[in-house]
Amino acid sequence: MAKIQAPVHKNEILDVEFEDLTHEGHAVAKVEGYPLFVQGALPEETGRIQVTKVNKGYGFGRLMETTKRSPYRVDVPKSEMHKYGGTQLSHISYEGQLKFKEKQVRDVMTRIGKLGDVPVHPVLGMENPWHYRNKAQVPVGEKNGQLISGFFKPRSHEIIDTNESLIQIAEINEAVQAVKEICNELHIQAYDETAHKGTLRHIVARYGKATGELMVVIVTRSSKLPQQEQLVEKIVNRLPKVKSIVHNINSKRTNVIMGEENRVLWGEPVIHDYIGDIKFAISARSFYQVNPDQTKVLYEKALEYAGLSGDETVIDAYCGIGTISLFLAQQAKKVYGVEIVPQAIEDAKQNAELNGITNVEFEVGEAETVIPNWYKQGIKADVLVVDPPRKGCDEALLQTIIDMKPKKVVYVSCNPGTLARDLRILEDGGYETAEVQPVDMFPMTGHVECVSQIVLKNS
Ligand code: SAH
Repeated sequence: MAKIQAPVHKNEILDVEFEDLTHEGHAVAKVEGYPLFVQGALPEETGRIQVTKVNKGYGFGRLMETTKRSPYRVDVPKSEMHKYGGTQLSHISYEGQLKFKEKQVRDVMTRIGKLGDVPVHPVLGMENPWHYRNKAQVPVGEKNGQLISGFFKPRSHEIIDTNESLIQIAEINEAVQAVKEICNELHIQAYDETAHKGTLRHIVARYGKATGELMVVIVTRSSKLPQQEQLVEKIVNRLPKVKSIVHNINSKRTNVIMGEENRVLWGEPVIHDYIGDIKFAISARSFYQVNPDQTKVLYEKALEYAGLSGDETVIDAYCGIGTISLFLAQQAKKVYGVEIVPQAIEDAKQNAELNGITNVEFEVGEAETVIPNWYKQGIKADVLVVDPPRKGCDEALLQTIIDMKPKKVVYVSCNPGTLARDLRILEDGGYETAEVQPVDMFPMTGHVECVSQIVLKNS
């Protein structure tokens, strides 16, 4: 498709009509077919904007005034937190957010998957869509000789100093604030990214909502942690829920938050949490879903779609620390999990042991390599679950599914676009998408998770 020459110029002021909302929460206005992305506006609104950036095929604008309001608009304080602090959709009522997410899923099913008829259910949302995250990773900087921490302004390395995130669990906000204050009291230096000097890089807090166990991770550049004893003592005194204090060393020039080396400074190396009846041990670096309430909703739906009777062999591809595998193992004969990160598989095995679950086997490797090997060895799934990263399933894996012919495929996806693409491939290979259930794992953000049931035709 030929790129449209921009019909607008920088700083131009325009009156526009907004049509759509992207998953980043930008509204889209079209000028002679040229899309302009505008933060803070909503579909079906009209407004006045100033063009801020003009690229070849698209541009950006700043909302100056709304001239027609969407019924879903809610008033929020004009703050950087509402604009950037992980709450890009906070100007939309929660009901409106769920509607927009449902529409987003429907649109890609039709446009990308050519699946206009597939039933897409209304999004399963939260009763209280605030303060749901069980984890924070907060960058630390310095301003006027004081430590500051909060979030990066988008596309910059400027830290906005905040103590309260609207989407983090209260215990997490308290923990981050307390650790920041303590480090200030002890005059611990912040890490300076440009000079690659200084000490404190990030404060990380994780919380097991079902157990009330708190973990604090102090990430530093240097392997020495100044005033370690006082630091630990103050944290333990000020945060009674803390069960684990870990020092993580990250001496590299990198955007990656944690380094390889962990030292337990106090307490346990892990905290625990439950999803349903399954207990999980969470270490400083393990992957764990950030919204525990909605994770349960998502996994219960996956279990329902798997429709297990106790006799089935199940494969869980992209299994992470075995969360879905262990959930399914309660109702299956045998579950095989595969995952590319070796540490995650270690965690998965330990979690199986922690719960006394013995009908699971985990293997490290690429799903698209390991599952064809299993198939050659005679392991054939009745139900196959996939939960890939944003880029979706590898084609080789989809082809193996088509050859193996499990009766059901349960597809958990954090990207509706690649889900729709992969559903089309499965449909062309003899499957039918029975239903798609979006689940709101990340209220106030544009992200939407889906679980869908796909059945083998003529089986
Ligand atoms: N099902 C898990 C994790 C899902 S996230 C849960 O619900 O917690 C997706 C996972 O896929 C990540 O753990 C990532 O490490 C893994 N992954 C990415 N590419 C992979 C591949 N080619 N083969 C197997 N696992 C992969």
